[in-house]
Amino acid sequence: KLLIAQADPEIARVLDQELERQAGHLELIASENIASRAVMAVQGSVLTNKYAEGYPGKRYYGGCEHVDTAERLAIERLLRLFEADYANVQPHSGSQANMAAYFALLQPGDTVLGMDLAHGGHLTHGARVSFSGQLYRFVHYGVRPETGTIDYDALRRLALEQRPKLIVAGASAYPRILHFDRFAEIAAEAGAALMVDMAHIAGLVATGLHPSPVSLADVVTSTTHKTLRGPRGGFILARAAYAERLRSEVFPGIQGGPLMHVIAAKAVAFREALAPAFKQYQQRVLANAQALAEALQQAGLPLVSGGTDNHLMLADLSTWDLTGQEAEAALGRAGITVNKNAVPFDRRGARVTSGIRIGTPYVTSRGMGIEEMRQIAGLIIEVLKNKDDTRILERSRLEVAELCNAFPLYT
Ligand code: PLP
Repeated sequence: KLLIAQADPEIARVLDQELERQAGHLELIASENIASRAVMAVQGSVLTNKYAEGYPGKRYYGGCEHVDTAERLAIERLLRLFEADYANVQPHSGSQANMAAYFALLQPGDTVLGMDLAHGGHLTHGARVSFSGQLYRFVHYGVRPETGTIDYDALRRLALEQRPKLIVAGASAYPRILHFDRFAEIAAEAGAALMVDMAHIAGLVATGLHPSPVSLADVVTSTTHKTLRGPRGGFILARAAYAERLRSEVFPGIQGGPLMHVIAAKAVAFREALAPAFKQYQQRVLANAQALAEALQQAGLPLVSGGTDNHLMLADLSTWDLTGQEAEAALGRAGITVNKNAVPFDRRGARVTSGIRIGTPYVTSRGMGIEEMRQIAGLIIEVLKNKDDTRILERSRLEVAELCNAFPLYT
């Protein structure tokens, strides 16, 4: 810490302030988590100095013997975690994992089915502002208005009508189980390949708390930093038949030198995820999400699909006199961090929205449990109902601070 302060006082201040912000706020962003100290130490290690274009044993640089060990360990552990044939741990992010997978499976202009962004899909599942929507002809499927759950019948009809080359399953804001067996059946019937982006639920899948897509999909992509609680990054799993194409699409197709410090930190996180304590952690994430969802609904806040099966929920504010943008800002003033999020069939634009997404991975990593979830639900409701009352926001802020003090960050 002293070293950073001496080298760069301005950035040292950023680190101090961000640590203070995370420690003093309730972070309920569903895609965030708390990487372990070991993961962070490895990321900030000497491995950042090393160039290692290529793959273990087949590098374009000398001196790779030790980073080769790190990458082999990451691959072995990842294969054990998800029981896959092939693993690539080099993608710098989830988006890069998806790009490499598309490059391996598709030609520009091919038709692909992906989940609508407003129904929970990700930008890289064909949004027009993303390379995915620009290079390929994405057609979107979504949820049923009455249930908020994926309309598999409509997806099947769409697949048979469109005959896509690929169906992409996976989401950023879908609170229910993804039925990969249904996706696989539909893909097979339509003659499409199946790709699953399990970025959000990877930690649940790794511990058997969400069905695994690995034996059903041709290619599975993920991030490492959400429920999986590793360093920021991505990976790809696949059937052996796709290994060679994926290998060359990741490098040299879309990336140069792999981030060996991040790959080694991924190895550390995968080791942590293989330990029994990680399953207990994921069980607490689920129990906390259940408790939070129940308490919010009991207090009159509707959730899309009426609840959650995973680590996140989507509050639907469309019947409240409140936008997602206003809700995010008011909660932020009270020390509660969430993100505004479109709800299915949202009439408001992406910058305003009618929902907020709420997740439990981060606060569960701090050690909070059911009782705290009920308290947090009470705080959320109080703030949303009194968003312009500075006294109430201030009182909530103090309660948040007390809660945060009772569950310190990085003890
Ligand atoms: N896929 C899904 C389903 C995601 O939710 C995300 C991130 O939010 C990504 C991919 C992209 O990951 P990254 O932000 O690492 O590019």
